[in-house]
Amino acid sequence: MTETSPVARRRTFAIISHPDAGKTTLTEKLLMFGGAIQMAGEVRAKRSGTQTRSDWMAIERQRGISVVTSVMTFEYADRVFNLLDTPGHEDFSEDTYRTLSAVDSAIMVIDAAKGIEARTKKLFEVCRLRDIPIITFINKMDRETRDPFELLDEIEQTLALDTAPVTWPVGSGRSFAGTIDLRHKLLRRIDVEEEPTPVSGPDDPLIDTLLPAHEIDAWREEAGLALEACKPFDLDAFREGHLTPVFFGSALRNFGVRDLIDAIAEMAPAPRDQEADQRTVAASEPRMTGFVFKIQANMDPNHRDRIAFIRVCSGKLARGMKAKLVRTGKPITVSAPQFFFARERGIVDEAFAGDVVGLPNHGTLRIGDTLTEGEDIVFRGVPSFAPEILRRIKLNDAMKAKKLREALQQMAEEGVVQLFLPHDGSGAIVGVVGALQLDVLKDRLQAEYGLPIDYEQTRFSICRWIEAKDKVEHERFLNAHGSSIANDLDGDPVFLAANAFSLKYEQDRWKDITFTDVKDYQ
Ligand code: GDP
Repeated sequence: MTETSPVARRRTFAIISHPDAGKTTLTEKLLMFGGAIQMAGEVRAKRSGTQTRSDWMAIERQRGISVVTSVMTFEYADRVFNLLDTPGHEDFSEDTYRTLSAVDSAIMVIDAAKGIEARTKKLFEVCRLRDIPIITFINKMDRETRDPFELLDEIEQTLALDTAPVTWPVGSGRSFAGTIDLRHKLLRRIDVEEEPTPVSGPDDPLIDTLLPAHEIDAWREEAGLALEACKPFDLDAFREGHLTPVFFGSALRNFGVRDLIDAIAEMAPAPRDQEADQRTVAASEPRMTGFVFKIQANMDPNHRDRIAFIRVCSGKLARGMKAKLVRTGKPITVSAPQFFFARERGIVDEAFAGDVVGLPNHGTLRIGDTLTEGEDIVFRGVPSFAPEILRRIKLNDAMKAKKLREALQQMAEEGVVQLFLPHDGSGAIVGVVGALQLDVLKDRLQAEYGLPIDYEQTRFSICRWIEAKDKVEHERFLNAHGSSIANDLDGDPVFLAANAFSLKYEQDRWKDITFTDVKDYQ
């Protein structure tokens, strides 16, 4: 793979942060660096596509959600960046987790006054499951902040992640004057647009002109310490997910963003090789492979078509090609793959490993599906997490039970909720990771299927997939717990427990049964 090959040029990443830390602001600034999207020879934006585009926009407005921003592709410094958006709700949905299964690196945005917040930590843990390399951006340096050392220490302690400050702030809040690049000894000033100035180090006299006199000594001491005592940046440790390079800046003031995007271009990995169940697929392989990590429904209730977002893992996805959908063994034609430019959509002629394209379909594609040029492999790693909230569906019109069953099946295939059908024949149970998904399900069942539903508490609060090496033991467990067993969408059994105590009780009694809270899609 040469530096200039399409794969080597790609950077596919996400931004993880707590709400309000500045993700949206940073995204806007990153896209500005992208400028006009021109991918000569690779993509032909559909010039006559204004019709489609405006339809699309209308749909977005109607639902008040952004489809286009699911993926934002832009070019900068001879790199193609695919920025995958993690949903912005305060609440968790599985979409967030799945999106992170499709990236090669992530930017962690931290509010300099707040440090690591709950959601950042949770998202980080998901990244850690796959050892995704993380670049840290400490934002809002133009406001009152916590001490930089304290922030680094918090990252190390809370996330068990080494830190290597690549830039160091010169002042903060009102006296925030810029940053100094500790490796290259370059000073970037917030009041000057130009290229950074070479300096001798923290003791450079230029800095005396930037900070209030009473802050200079303390700052020098601190910056000197950062230079001496902090870990230097180590590419291998970063790529393995053990160390994060740290940048300081202000997204709002568009400061520090260039250093950040340069870091993604230089440090962040090109598309990674992906584990399939039979073998590892190298990103540089010539034959196309990819997996579906997200499904977005068409908002028009009369058209049940959906967009499946595919991460290309190897080879070239070309318009019009035939691909094999491994789950069914059937071929599908990739007729109108969509590419998502910063603010537009276009039809793709070609996409490469690392790219994300949208495939319109009528329900053929499911989350976790693998597409290949014929080989029978299945990518693992689009996980399903045990839901944290379980509810039984109460249908307010008993005549529509069959329709409800179909609708729930579709919603589950789309990944809106997880569906569990109890072995004892009682009503369907839905599970979600974040409570917001329950509202989404209820709204959509009403709007798209005319099904008015309510939720009922169940006696269960915990759900675990159950596995056992010994088939007989597995069977014995299922039979002994009939009323607490349900099947998921794939027909795999789960054990439903009333609380942590009863789960523990069963775990202690059934040593040969494994209870898992994460399941890979088949
Ligand atoms: P998100 O919820 O993470 O997407 O955060 P936003 O980008 O919407 O930012 C939340 C708020 O913080 C907004 O009012 C932004 O204007 C503000 N903000 C973002 N970045 C900065 C920054 O660098 N400095 C300051 N002072 N405010 C910022």
